[in-house]
Amino acid sequence: YGTILLKGETIELRDVPKIIMSFFSWPFDAKYSRNERLHVLERHSFAYSRIRQCSNLNEKEKENLLNKYSQTITHDFTTKQGVNGEAIPNGNTIWLNRNFLNSNQEDEIAQTLIHEMMHCAGYNHIERRPTDRPGDNGEYYNSPPLRAELCIAGRQSDRN
Ligand SMILES: [Zn+2]
Repeated sequence: YGTILLKGETIELRDVPKIIMSFFSWPFDAKYSRNERLHVLERHSFAYSRIRQCSNLNEKEKENLLNKYSQTITHDFTTKQGVNGEAIPNGNTIWLNRNFLNSNQEDEIAQTLIHEMMHCAGYNHIERRPTDRPGDNGEYYNSPPLRAELCIAGRQSDRN
């Protein structure tokens, strides 16, 4: 069971699995406005809908990631410069950069959320090196959190 979202005058249909309804009871730090909460949840919902068909994660990685969405994930803000988001491997909190969230870079926001959810699902990566480039298949960009970013729009973030 789930629901279907209809958007705008030119109808855009999106199936919404039942589990996504449970995201809407996730706790947010009080600093989040209602619109910021809804923005994050819509982007999580989009990211979630991309996982099953994604060829950049293996079946075990997809299963672990999908399972993580059934847990309670808390959201707070980070104030670290140049950081889109942060999470701790096997944690249940995502820290987002508020300016980034409000930048309306919709694909990049969904990429960040799925990347941080992969950390929450227990995956990690080495520190990005100056020579690392998206798509280079190296130790950084070929790690599960970075490969998960490809599920959104076929791209990887060029930021830390
Ligand atoms: Zn990371």
